Amino acid sequence: MQQLQIAMFVAQETAAHLDRAGDRAKQYSKSKLTLGILKLVLGFVLVLAFLLSGASSELSGLLRNLTRNYHLQLSGYLLVSSVGYYLLFLGLDFYGDVVLERRYGLSNQTTVGWLVRSAKEWGLSTLLILGVLNLLYAVIRGLPHWWWLIAAIGWFILLVLISKITPAVIVPLFYKMVPLQNSELVDRLLALAGRCGVRVQRVFEIKLSKETNKANAAVIGWGRNRRIVIGDTLLTLCSADEIEAVFAHELGHVALHHTWKLLAGSAVSFVIGFYLLYLVLGPSAAALGFAGPAEIAAIPLLLLWIAIFGFLSKPLQTGYSRHLEKQADLFILGKVERPETLVSALTKLADRNLSDPNPSRLVEALFYTHPPIAKRIAYLRQAGQVHA
Ligand SMILES: [Zn+2]
Repeated sequence: MQQLQIAMFVAQETAAHLDRAGDRAKQYSKSKLTLGILKLVLGFVLVLAFLLSGASSELSGLLRNLTRNYHLQLSGYLLVSSVGYYLLFLGLDFYGDVVLERRYGLSNQTTVGWLVRSAKEWGLSTLLILGVLNLLYAVIRGLPHWWWLIAAIGWFILLVLISKITPAVIVPLFYKMVPLQNSELVDRLLALAGRCGVRVQRVFEIKLSKETNKANAAVIGWGRNRRIVIGDTLLTLCSADEIEAVFAHELGHVALHHTWKLLAGSAVSFVIGFYLLYLVLGPSAAALGFAGPAEIAAIPLLLLWIAIFGFLSKPLQTGYSRHLEKQADLFILGKVERPETLVSALTKLADRNLSDPNPSRLVEALFYTHPPIAKRIAYLRQAGQVHA
């Protein structure tokens, strides 16, 4: 169980690291990390047990008795497993999303609000899984030797489409988003966008405060659907100068074409990942006595391989993301009048969000999509122009 060993190593690393510092952010990060690892290991073990105990074969046999249609059997199997998985993890998710967040004063969400949100997330992801796996298994059955390439291309197209509809369709399912009202601030931000050579028509305010005290801003979508959104939590936390600096960082993502770079990175990793999956799925299914990789009872095997490849490629994914974040941070130098305000904004955000300023290197490599705050401040200062 390599996954388990890695998880234990991460936990030890973290514990050793925590001995060196013990403030609230460290404690919060530790709880979050422990919970994340617990869910990862538990999920892995449960799926493995479902596969090896024969429960998976029994469920697929039961469905075979109900219908002879392969895709109805597949959909039934996925629906039952998805409900089971959701219910099994409901308690842990509630603890992580509500109990822990409330303990640290980060959550503004009611229990009912959380339940509605989690049911929506489940519905959306189940719908997606049903669609994607029905297509994937149709291709595996139809093109036994080339399905990996078709799957990689299809997966990429899906990712591009989802990111396209995220601002208009997916985010509104969870958050209210309105054009930013403060006209003085809007004028300032639009002027800044003009100086950075980025076409922005409107700036959006996203209402995070209904759920959380954490502050954030982001670029979502691409093309005409692209939006730069600023959390209402960030708007109340930061000064106009600081908001401008954060906005400049987001403009950096646009000006430096980060969305496209991330999509291109995904395309490469999908081709490699699905090819590796093709290499291991057939032989491992045969070794466990399944008739072929498309046998419904062998679905847990597919999920386990995807989880393993996903976990092993994490350092690469997060490393690339941190590289792009650093570029966006440095982009603001020379673009805003007082770049040192990015340092004060980042410090405020880290304090508010209880971010660990100095995680261990392993934790950073596995989980941090942004450089830890101490590193961001260090390279911003080193870049010369920032003396805050
Ligand atoms: Zn960023």
